[in-house]
Amino acid sequence: MHFQDLKLHAALLDAVRAEGYETPTPIQEQAIPLVLTGKDLMGCAKTGTGKTAAFALPILDTLLRVPVPTGRRNPRVLVLTPTRELAAQVADNFARYGGRTRLRTTVIFGGVSQHAQEIAIRGGCDILVATPGRLLDLCGQRLLSLASIEIFVLDEADRMLDMGFINDIRKVVAMLPPARQNLMFSATFADEIKTLAGSILKAPEFVAADPPATTVELITQQLCFVERAQKIDLLLHFLKDPDMRRVLAFTRTKHGADKVVRQLQRVGIKALAIHGNKSQNARTHAMDEFRKGGTRVMVATDIAARGIDIDDITHVVIMDLPNEPDIFVHRIGRTGRAGEAGIAIAFCAEDERPLLADIERLIGKHVPRMEDYPYVSPIAPPAPTNLTPHKRTSPSVANKPSGRPGNSPYGHQGRPGGPGRADNHSRSDNAPRRSQGHDQNRGKRPPQNAPRPANSGR
Ligand code: AMP
Repeated sequence: MHFQDLKLHAALLDAVRAEGYETPTPIQEQAIPLVLTGKDLMGCAKTGTGKTAAFALPILDTLLRVPVPTGRRNPRVLVLTPTRELAAQVADNFARYGGRTRLRTTVIFGGVSQHAQEIAIRGGCDILVATPGRLLDLCGQRLLSLASIEIFVLDEADRMLDMGFINDIRKVVAMLPPARQNLMFSATFADEIKTLAGSILKAPEFVAADPPATTVELITQQLCFVERAQKIDLLLHFLKDPDMRRVLAFTRTKHGADKVVRQLQRVGIKALAIHGNKSQNARTHAMDEFRKGGTRVMVATDIAARGIDIDDITHVVIMDLPNEPDIFVHRIGRTGRAGEAGIAIAFCAEDERPLLADIERLIGKHVPRMEDYPYVSPIAPPAPTNLTPHKRTSPSVANKPSGRPGNSPYGHQGRPGGPGRADNHSRSDNAPRRSQGHDQNRGKRPPQNAPRPANSGR
C-alpha cells in the first residue's frame, strides 16, 4: 500500500514525502481510512509503530475539508497526552505534517510559565495538544474553551492511567461537546483500558499494530530442542523443504545474523542479513530482494525486523529465543499475515529453557514440540504437563507476565531430566523425539518432517 491509496489531501502527501516515509506502517494502513470515516477508534499501538501519524494525518485531512477561518479560533481537535515530552512530540508531528496548510497547532503543558501558552491560545489554533493538568488550569481560568472540539484523542491511555490521570481525564471529557469523534491509543488493552474505552468511545472500531491473537492462532508453532552449535544444521535440514520459499529467520545478535547468512550462502542458499549495522541502502536492497523472491532467507535481528512488512513469508524460524517473551509473539506474527496460515519454528538450546518458560507463561500454553527432527538436544526435557495459563488481558498479548526467568512451567527448577532421562521418560504425542542418528535424510530426499501449514500448497 502507498500513502496515495489512502486518499489524503495533496498537502499532506507532500509532507509525508518530505518526511521520507515510503509506505504507511500497519497501524497507519488500518487506522487512517477508519478515522477518515468519522468513526470512533481504539488503537492498540506502542510508540514506534507510527501511531502519531496514524491519527494526525486523517485528522488534518478532516480539518482541511472545512475551510480554515482566519483570525482567532477555538481548537477543533484536542489531543491529551500523559507527559510534556509526548505532548511536544505530537504537536511537532502535527506541525510538520500540516506545514503546507494553514492549520495551526498549539501545545500546552505544565512545569513552565503559563504566559507564552496563554498568548498562543489567544492567537487561536485548530489543534491543541495538552497534558491534563495545565489544560484544566487554563480552562478553569476561562482562558481556553473546549466548546468547539470535534475530535478528541487520548494518547497513551495506559500511561495516563499509570500516572493517576483518570479523574483529570474524566473532567476533561465532561467539558467536551457530546457530538464528537473519539480516538484512543494504548500500548495495552488491559481491563482498565477497556473500561475507560467503554466510557469514552461510541461503537468504536478496533485496530492493533501487533498481530492480534486470532492471527497468531492461525500460525502453526513448533519447537525444537537443539544444541546451540547445531542450530545451523537443523536450519539447513528444514531448508531442504521447497515449501520453505520465503523464510524470515531471527537471531539474537547482528554477528549471529551475519554468521547464519555466511553459512547458508556457503551451501548455495540465497540469504541476506538485515540488522542495525547495515546501511539504509543495504537494508532497502535486502528487503527488495526478499520481496521479489531473489533471496530465500532473510536473517534479521529484532530491531531491523520491526519494519518488515512482507505478506508472503511462508516460515519464521526463531533461531534464538528472545529475552522478552512478547517479542516471541511479534516474531511469529511475521508469518501468517492477511489471515493465511503460516509456520513458526523456534529453536531452544539448553540455556534458553528459562526463556521458553517465560514465553509459555505469557502465551498461556506450551509451544507444541516438533515430533521428529534431527539434531535433537541430548537433554531434551520431558513432555510438558501442567502449565497454569497466564491470564490474557490483551488481544496482542502485550502485557508481560509477572514471573521471572527461571520459574519453570514444568513444575521444578533447573534441568528437567538428566541425559539418561530424555530417553526414558514416557512420551506424549507432542514430545520431541530423539532421532536415530543425525540427519539421515541429508542429501537423499526432501525431509518428510519439515513443517507444512494446514492448507499447504504453497
Ligand atoms: P510514533 O510511533 O508515532 O512515535 O512514530 C515513530 C517514528 O516513526 C517517528 O519518528 C515517525 O516519524 C516515524 N514514522 C511514522 N510513520 C512512518 C512511516 N510511514 N514510514 C517511516 N517512518 C514513519
